[in-house]
Amino acid sequence: MTRIQDPETIRTLLSWAVSTLKRADIEYPQSDAATLLSHALSCDRVKLYADPDVTLQEIDIITGKKLITQRARRVPLQYITGHTEFMSRNFSVDKRVLIPRPETEVLVERALDMVKSGTLSKTGLTIIDIGTGSGIIAISLAIHLTTCRVYASDISKESLEVAAINVKNLEVSERVNLFQGDLFDAFDGKLCKGSVDLVVSNPPYVTESELSCLEPEVRDHEPVTALVAGEVGLYYLKRIVNGSPEWLRPGGYLILEIGETQAEQVAQLMVQSGTFAGIKIFQDLQKRDRIVSARRR
Ligand code: GLN
Repeated sequence: MTRIQDPETIRTLLSWAVSTLKRADIEYPQSDAATLLSHALSCDRVKLYADPDVTLQEIDIITGKKLITQRARRVPLQYITGHTEFMSRNFSVDKRVLIPRPETEVLVERALDMVKSGTLSKTGLTIIDIGTGSGIIAISLAIHLTTCRVYASDISKESLEVAAINVKNLEVSERVNLFQGDLFDAFDGKLCKGSVDLVVSNPPYVTESELSCLEPEVRDHEPVTALVAGEVGLYYLKRIVNGSPEWLRPGGYLILEIGETQAEQVAQLMVQSGTFAGIKIFQDLQKRDRIVSARRR
């Protein structure tokens, strides 16, 4: 005898989704379930709760279950929906790029504060962004500084494809130029050395051993090349500290995102280079050291 099942409604699908995500140890099962089901049903989250007894079409049930199953396998939410927010703007993301973290907003805000306070000029800034990934830093600066010119590099061709989509969607093509290459090498012949007002970067800074302790979403799904920087995590930070003086104009600034235990070492690298002054350390919202800035002498 076949058992006739009750029709699947938003309520029953949502409840299945939440318990599936709970079993998979997802940190925010309720919120992720609502985000993914509203994505599958192309409606906003409010509708899920406003009309819970709507009977669902087969295709919507299949799509919804597929997205929840992916999330239960610890695929990051943002890779499943294909987008995320950074500085109140919507950015496309997928597995070709690191997912933007809120702490990187501190870096952008630090740069914008320097402009507001007159430390950097309000007009005509030339900015380099090293390891741009999805382009969040370069694009956010270009949105807020309407007369700047940002030169952004990444060694990953694939990540630059994502950055190009974001540059186009956020309408900053006139101000952001993307170049493929290893750190500053990407700009050889494209930009005058010694002419740059600001170098910014959120490079890989996680150590090899830290990676194995990170959440499965990060460890198993995000691009390892965007995260790991050798045994002590300083491989790229050191190269950027040493490489930026020849591109910066005297009086230009370097602003770096760092791992929470790396502030002293990065400041030390800046001191050792003999070309930086006014080294400052800033914390993220969790009060962890996150940003180091310095002025080229
Ligand atoms: N902050 C990132 C993390 O949480 C690391 C980003 C980076 O290496 N630049 O893993």
